[in-house]
Amino acid sequence: MKTGQNLHMHSLWDDGRNSCREMLDACRREGLASGGISVHSPMPFPSDWTIGSEQLSGYLQELDGLRRELYPGFRVLCGIEWDVLSTGVDLSLFDYVIGSVHYLPVWEIPPSVDNTPEELDETIRYYFDGDADKAAECYFQELLKVAADPHVRICGHFDLLLKFNEHLELFNPESTRYRKAALYALDALLDAGKVIEVNTGAMSRGWRSVPYPEMFWLRHIRDRGGKVILSSDAHSISHVTFYFEEAEELLRSCGFESVVELSPSGEFVPVSLRS
Ligand SMILES: [Zn+2]
Ligand SMILES: [Zn+2]
Repeated sequence: MKTGQNLHMHSLWDDGRNSCREMLDACRREGLASGGISVHSPMPFPSDWTIGSEQLSGYLQELDGLRRELYPGFRVLCGIEWDVLSTGVDLSLFDYVIGSVHYLPVWEIPPSVDNTPEELDETIRYYFDGDADKAAECYFQELLKVAADPHVRICGHFDLLLKFNEHLELFNPESTRYRKAALYALDALLDAGKVIEVNTGAMSRGWRSVPYPEMFWLRHIRDRGGKVILSSDAHSISHVTFYFEEAEELLRSCGFESVVELSPSGEFVPVSLRS
């Protein structure tokens, strides 16, 4: 079986910069055997980075067309990156669901955790009395919804909270409370059999020098026999396999010998890391 897959990519249907066709073409050029678009799910409050509910049928139709028309030997998958605060989306319509937390639910229009370091800093001050561990506890509590949803197969960017930490140290991921909250969520995800994504998206945007999750968590996943999948969270054609080789090297150094890919039968199957 030809391998190489990226299931976490965005397009013009949300905040991506290229069409679905262009993204999938780029995957094929990069030598991947399959690719999936994972549109940001609609939110119940104004958001300029997600698809609208009324556009979902158009998205499904486009992917269906591409799936039938696009290149023999390359498999097209139609996914969704579901935010836990999304409502009214039938998740059974998609080939796979990535479950993600982008907001802290402290207000009816909740603050996002990955917009800008300044906004996140302000959120911690304003909503959490400056207690970053409290904000982390809130985030990881939300992540339990990803663990609990039966449609979700993959956990997106596990420690997204650390997106800006190399730029502005808002969180101390080694603090007792942070670790406890993160570990509880990670164990819940692993207990539920979710695949944990190794996501290079913040690296392509220049925020981080390593993928999510942190190595500490990767080793824990390895020790528990958990499954990981490679993704670039690409928003443009230049990032479809961004930092994949280095991420594989990192995984090897954490004791992994394989990642998983979504097979045509809908199962996640192990694929050896390249040597
Ligand atoms: Zn996301
Ligand atoms: Zn994404």
